[in-house]
Amino acid sequence: MNDPRENLSQAARQLLAIEELLGSAFLPASRNPLPPAAASTAQPARPATKTPASAFVPAGPALLGAGLSPKKRAEALEAIDVNEVRGCTRCGLSQGRTQTVFGEGDPCAPLVFVGEGPGQEEDRTGRPFVGRAGELLSKMIAAMGLTRQQVFIVNMVKCRPPDNRTPLPNEVAACFGYLLRQLQIIAPKVIVTLGNPATKGLLGPDTEGITRIRGVWKSLPTLAEGLGGIPVMPTFHPAYVLRYYTPAVREQVWSDLQQVMTRLGLSTPTADPQ
Ligand code: SF4
Repeated sequence: MNDPRENLSQAARQLLAIEELLGSAFLPASRNPLPPAAASTAQPARPATKTPASAFVPAGPALLGAGLSPKKRAEALEAIDVNEVRGCTRCGLSQGRTQTVFGEGDPCAPLVFVGEGPGQEEDRTGRPFVGRAGELLSKMIAAMGLTRQQVFIVNMVKCRPPDNRTPLPNEVAACFGYLLRQLQIIAPKVIVTLGNPATKGLLGPDTEGITRIRGVWKSLPTLAEGLGGIPVMPTFHPAYVLRYYTPAVREQVWSDLQQVMTRLGLSTPTADPQ
């Protein structure tokens, strides 16, 4: 049976996604369209993720995607995935994985979402953000007027940490070079970090916690050639949004995404076109 959304216009689909993201009819952010708060907004305690000091980037010239065709970029990403990541045993996470989760999306994506690490469903399927949090991320992307195929979704580590714990600093460090090389090839215009581990992992361990820093534009340090200065928007991880599903949290995430949309020149359709 056909998905009735296929018959909707792009603007209508986007409005529907915004409505789903916010939980009620789409209204301006100044009005609260959301159902009653259900839980505390307190941020759960998490171990700090330090900047990977021993991040490896292979010797030799960096492969920068800016001058490469989409086909070349896709081939370069696939080569890293197939030839290196899938057989990687650089850290202990290799022992518990079903399969690696490289990341997916447009190899020329202007927007890259960086999460923490694969969960159970991701480990099972080999795809990033396909569980409940992934469904919410898909809604967030749709609310921006984009599809998952138009962005790139990746995690700090490619293998599932046991019991979905936060990746340890040595695990992030071991995997960091893969992420940097992915970013070099994709060459995004904007990076959205989802949650504390991804934000601190990319911006540094002394970066303020996500509750304070979300919604504030940051600049990616020169972690590797070609990466310095990429605008970074930290926001809550979708799993956090699901856990603390309050009007305030959802409006904050939508506000962060709207800033990204403005930066990328994307527009928000109005519910009542004049
Ligand atoms: S998490 Fe990264 S570094 Fe560790 S085994 Fe998996 S692919 Fe290798």
